[in-house]
This record gives sequence, structure tokens and C-alpha cells, in this order.
Amino acid sequence: MTTGELNPMQQSVVDVLGKPAGWVPLPISVVESLREQIETALAPLAAKLTADRPLFISKSSLTTVHGCEAHYLASLDSFEWTILNVRGTVMHKAVELAINWRGSVEPAALVDEALARLEDEESRGPSEFIAQLSPGERAQLRSYAVDLYTKFEESFPPLKASWRPVTESAARVELFKGLIFLSTRVDLTLGGPGSKVIIDLKSGRIYSNHREDLRFYALVESLRSGQPPRRLATYSLESARADVEEVTEGVLQSAVRRVVDGANAIYELTREEREPKLNPGSQCRWCPLKETCETGKQFLERGFEDD
Ligand code: SF4
Repeated sequence: MTTGELNPMQQSVVDVLGKPAGWVPLPISVVESLREQIETALAPLAAKLTADRPLFISKSSLTTVHGCEAHYLASLDSFEWTILNVRGTVMHKAVELAINWRGSVEPAALVDEALARLEDEESRGPSEFIAQLSPGERAQLRSYAVDLYTKFEESFPPLKASWRPVTESAARVELFKGLIFLSTRVDLTLGGPGSKVIIDLKSGRIYSNHREDLRFYALVESLRSGQPPRRLATYSLESARADVEEVTEGVLQSAVRRVVDGANAIYELTREEREPKLNPGSQCRWCPLKETCETGKQFLERGFEDD
């Protein structure tokens, strides 16, 4: 990366994400070994699946099932868009438009364009939710999204085409000829195959499980392209701080173990009706069971500090 005129926040992003001199990619043999490990470990589960009812594993399903199994089951059919959870989607769309926009554009104009695009999209997404907002609710959402996008613009260096920025990039790995799918949608990637930096943008603070999310992204990218990414970063727009991790063989192996444990848990809970385990934590705050679950209520009443 070349720096030009950057403010201190932008400079710190360049400093933590730039490619150090002498960096060498992980050898191809690492990916071959990962593929062997994950296929060996998931083979007993794959033997129970059929092609007409495969298992889909995503970042959110892994995070939720590893957080609290009861929360995972309760959340399966309870997702609802809200102004707070849609604001990140609007901000991501604004970033996507900004990267490909010709000429200068104000944050508010980009957010308006992002809202219009999302409202028009026919695929599964917040189209209907945005369309039915009252003028006041839409103004509130616009205000949140302009705030987030402005923070992004202030803290990220201008993304040059030569850095190969891509937003909302979807990737999928098919295991056992379509019996198990691993899928991701990454907020932002920089760099080409073999030296990618994968970035997750957070509107709020950074939690310990965000590293696990990115390790899953790195595993999917490695298995899909045969080339592990270079670095992983969770970037908090609230604190203008990045949590950065190098992609090593150990990082990828930990992602394999987490996928294997999570996939087995998801299968047992959804297809074998195993009793879910309760595990109170920060997820209790947005769990659909938080009003009725005694364990979660006690945990929240005690109060806790986020790690
Ligand atoms: S309230 Fe907490 S402990 Fe109870 S099910 Fe939800 S996440 Fe689990």
C-alpha cells in the first residue's frame, strides 16, 4: 500500500493490513492437509446425510450453536429485520457503491442510493422491511447508516482499484459431493488470491468470537481457492480499532475443529432432536428466549463485563 495524505486512523489501517517485506504464503500442502482433516472428521456425519437434504453451515449458524445451543434452536425461524440490524447492511451496500463510484460523492447521497438498491433487490434481504418503513423510521435508518458510512470513510484509506477491493463477496465449499456446504459472505477483501486480507466491519465493539468468524472465512477461502488468505481483521467503526490475526496452519486447523464440532451439533439438534445445552453469555441479550430462560435471566441480572 502507498499512503499519500492519510489521517492517523487511515494510516493505522495501512500499517496493520499492509503486506510486510519478505512475507511468504503458506505452502499448498497446508490446504491439502486441511482438506484431508476436515473430510476425515466429517465422514461419519456425511454418511448420515442424503443429497436431497444436505447440511448448510454458515458463519452465523456456527457462532450461534457454539454460543448456546438453545439459542441456536430458538433462532432458527425467528430472524426479523430491525432498524438496528439493517443499518450494517445499508452501510455495506454504501461501501460497495463507493468502491465502484466514479467521481466524488457525499455519504448521505451514497446511503440514499444504497437504500434504493436494497429496496429494489428481489433476493432474500431487507427489501420488504425497508419498503414498509414510515418516513420517520426511514429517516432514523438513514441517520444511522450515514453515521456508519462516514466513520468508514474517515477511518479507512481510500480503496484503490489496485488493492482489488471486493465487498459482500459470497463463497461456498461443497464437501462430499454436495452433502455438506460451507458458505460465507465477506464484508471486504483486499488483495488477490494467495495474499488476501479478509475484513469484517463491525458497527459496535469487537467480541472474542469475531476471530472465530474470520477463521471460518479463511478456511472456506483456503478450501475454495486452494490458497489461504494472508491476514484477518475485524474492524470496529465505533472505536476505529482493528483486531488482526495472521493466517497460520494452526489458525486454519482450529477452524476445522470448530466446523466439525458445530456441524455435528447442528445435525444432532435439528435432525436427531438432541436436548440443547444452555450456555449463558453476551448472546443472552438478543436471544429470543431471554424473557423465559431462567439461566439467561439470572446471567443478565448478575451483570457482566464483555471480554
Ligand atoms: S437466554 Fe441465554 S442461556 Fe438462555 S437460551 Fe438464550 S442464550 Fe441460552
